[in-house]
Amino acid sequence: MANTTLMMIKPDAVENGHIGNILQKVTSAGFQIKALKLTQLAKSDAERFYAVHSERPFYPELVAFMSRGPIVAAVLEKENAVVDFRNLIGATNPVEAAEGTIRKLYATSIGENAVHGSDSDENAAIEAAFHFAGRECF
Ligand code: GDP
Repeated sequence: MANTTLMMIKPDAVENGHIGNILQKVTSAGFQIKALKLTQLAKSDAERFYAVHSERPFYPELVAFMSRGPIVAAVLEKENAVVDFRNLIGATNPVEAAEGTIRKLYATSIGENAVHGSDSDENAAIEAAFHFAGRECF
């Protein structure tokens, strides 16, 4: 899974009608969509996906948010995908995100920040397998 990353368009951005605009920005930036689905995380799925944050004070809020409605999950391919995608989405807190980044444009708060991007090649592979069967990846 080198050169791939896992994106989620989070429930806030889906609720606010930003799926199309975000996919447009992603493909315009040179990412190829290798897998794509509209889905919803059960509470237990969100707990598992964000287990690394389980000791953080915002964990219950994060789990409730990520499981409250549909998300879009996608595997994206591009040279240097993990780093380039995190540059495209911007800082965790939209107040600190650079102009033109997806979070600057579409996030509402540090918690409800529109998109997820994997933070390493290793986690990209784990997160892609979390959302997609092999036959769903092209
Ligand atoms: P990311 O890699 O930029 O997504 O940031 P982190 O890995 O640090 O955090 C994971 C996710 O937890 C973020 O994208 C936010 O949705 C959420 N999060 C992080 N910090 C906070 C916080 O201080 N408050 C709340 N409510 N959510 C947070």
